[in-house]
Amino acid sequence: MTRLASVCADCFRIPLPTAVSDSTHGTIEAFQLITVRLTDTDGATGLGYTFTVGQGGTAVRALLQDDLADWLVEWPGEEIGELWQRMWWRLHWVGRGGVASFAMAAVDIAMWDLQARRAGRPLWKHLRETVDWLTPADSPPVVTPYAGGIDLEDPVDVLLERTQERIASGFRAIKMKVGRPQLAEDVARVTAMRETVGPEIPLMVDANMRWSVDEAITAARALDGLDLTWLEEPTAPEDWDGHARIASEGGLPIAAGENLHSVAEFRELITRGAISYPEPDVATVGGITPWLEVARMAAERGLPVTTHGVHDLHVHLLAAVDHASFLEVHGFGLERFITDPLLITDGRARIPDRPGHGVALDWNRLSRHREIPGSRPTQD
Ligand SMILES: [Mg+2]
Repeated sequence: MTRLASVCADCFRIPLPTAVSDSTHGTIEAFQLITVRLTDTDGATGLGYTFTVGQGGTAVRALLQDDLADWLVEWPGEEIGELWQRMWWRLHWVGRGGVASFAMAAVDIAMWDLQARRAGRPLWKHLRETVDWLTPADSPPVVTPYAGGIDLEDPVDVLLERTQERIASGFRAIKMKVGRPQLAEDVARVTAMRETVGPEIPLMVDANMRWSVDEAITAARALDGLDLTWLEEPTAPEDWDGHARIASEGGLPIAAGENLHSVAEFRELITRGAISYPEPDVATVGGITPWLEVARMAAERGLPVTTHGVHDLHVHLLAAVDHASFLEVHGFGLERFITDPLLITDGRARIPDRPGHGVALDWNRLSRHREIPGSRPTQD
């Protein structure tokens, strides 16, 4: 039986070519990428990664380096589910979500990558072959991407110009930010967007937790009639009953999940009927193992599953399930640092057929962006 031989964690600060903005995080000029590289006793390798919006990445790296890396050595490569449970209980006191879920995600993704690579299968196919409730398939289903990163601070003309660029580059679905100081501005911007893209393009809006429950209900009603696929993150992520009220009184389908970092949190929203589109992020919910648990919970209630962030990984997960909704193509792209970035053509994402998830990072290029703890000036 092969065992893990080495575990290497690191953290990088990746500057964005174009800053992004939303109603909660303001303008973001860089994100953090935290990586885990595994090697087993046969020399096979696996890569996992997670990310932050700019803070906490070195804490994730410290958890990995100080509390998981040495402990993982000698672990059998086959037993990912059991490893996940062991990690969960090892970090339970400081975890049950939060930063611990980010660290666990990087390890869990690397383990699945290692296993799929050893099997010589792309990750989507490996999951369909090995996870009991998934169905084997010779070829992947269609995965439909949408363009995120249509920003809150963009003036309307820039907003529409960026959208046209996304459509010209192959997207056939668009998500834009809402949560401007005045609701009338949001309504005008979404109306302009709908008029520009026409009735055929699926359109979503994302409030990034900006509103109170009552404000969200008012906003949802004001945006009704613009044929929106969903309203995302209308209010504080842990307000389970609030989400249920927004879903029942607002009239729009609700998506949420990027700020939920455990299966238990998703259970709260899903069992209350508070969301229509669960949106687990594999890099922040604890990895592929819990992502699949959320997807199964969604399937049991007839809900499609969608994603947030790390599109190069999520393309495999949506191709592994039979109830996939849209794939978010996120503004925190790694295109400049990976060999074969996700390809979008005529409204479809190409499903990679390389073994594992197929993401190969350019470590030389990344090394210029390594995070050194204490080296960043304090910001107000
Ligand atoms: Mg979002």
